[in-house]
Amino acid sequence: MIPYGKQAITGDDLAAVRSVLESDFLTSGPEIERFESALAEACGARHAVAVCNATAALHLAMRVTGIGPGDRVVTSPITFVASANAGEYVGAEVDFADVSEDDANIDPTSVAARAREGGLDAIVAVDYAGRPADLPALSSLAKEHGAVLIADGCHAIGTRFEVDGIPYRVGGNPFADITTFSFHPVKTITAGEGGALVTDNAEYAERARSLRSHGIERTGAEGPWFYEMRELGYNYRLTDFQAALGRSQLARLPENRARRQEIAARYAGELADIDCLALPKLERRSGRLGYGAGDLCLHLYPVRIDFAAIGKTRAQVMEELAGLGVGTQVHYIPVHLQPYYVGKYGYAPGKCQEAEAFYQQCLTLPLFPGMSDADAATVVAAVRAVVSPGAR
Ligand SMILES: *Cc1c(COP(=O)(O)O)cnc(C)c1O
Repeated sequence: MIPYGKQAITGDDLAAVRSVLESDFLTSGPEIERFESALAEACGARHAVAVCNATAALHLAMRVTGIGPGDRVVTSPITFVASANAGEYVGAEVDFADVSEDDANIDPTSVAARAREGGLDAIVAVDYAGRPADLPALSSLAKEHGAVLIADGCHAIGTRFEVDGIPYRVGGNPFADITTFSFHPVKTITAGEGGALVTDNAEYAERARSLRSHGIERTGAEGPWFYEMRELGYNYRLTDFQAALGRSQLARLPENRARRQEIAARYAGELADIDCLALPKLERRSGRLGYGAGDLCLHLYPVRIDFAAIGKTRAQVMEELAGLGVGTQVHYIPVHLQPYYVGKYGYAPGKCQEAEAFYQQCLTLPLFPGMSDADAATVVAAVRAVVSPGAR
């Protein structure tokens, strides 16, 4: 079975992890800083702070930007629940804006409407599937309301884009205050588990470093043993062997991106003619934000299928594809309709109509760097057989 996503582990990765396991430091050692420097450089950001997962990075992003009770966080419903939950962890109110039909990314117009209705203190923008959210528009909105813009870049490490013709990277741009990444095995690169936040703001970075280890500062004021706990932090540390794996994986990000682009291009070439199937648009040249297929490092390849028109349910299509050796997944169930958010805020169907319509039709096809050309051909043939109208 070809899964929808899969980590790629090489001999270099194994050697990197092994050398740490044979060294003196398994955690809080020299590999953390090495990984952080490599990540900051890969993004074009001043600072990177490595933590145990992206959920922790999002939580720390809320803490260091001072989001808390009485504040309002607006995010996208087409994301993993963690993007929203970070606001809940700090006692803020979490609301959801609708997404754009084009890319299933949070729609700045809808964010503006939510801001008018109830105020705005933080936006969590998700670069869904690897296409950048409209960061320039969201950044203007954030500034207008005195809010912070946190970019959940968990899908988009390695993605580039232009604003007003100037090139930027996800994590390395003046629009987001903080960008977060995940190194879970399904993501673009992995550390087993792991996450990071990157920022140009030295104070945010320093405070995140402190909070990731209990808010403790080793001052040595009364002697070499001496430390002070200045504020309530957490144990959100990454281990050194995870950091070594992350750095080894990061070194291969350009090849990883190139292979993802090749597979996406193949899908675009060989599946574009099927009625009832809409492929993700990989180019945008409207407004201030622009990118082409060669700029994207796609984490997912989500297609939209008109299930009613082909006379099959999504569950049937998934089962038939699985029967032909092709694994698929659904990204995502709109977060505002999760029982927790329905119960707490009374959010109901109809609140984010584009997001709900997207959910009805979306299906993620396999995309990962270890896919062979034969795997891609298997996916194409299976989709053509199962999804074509009249295929019944
Ligand atoms: C995976 C993911 C997260 C959470 O990452 P973890 O490292 O598993 O905590 C957050 N946001 C998005 C968009 C994700 O895809």
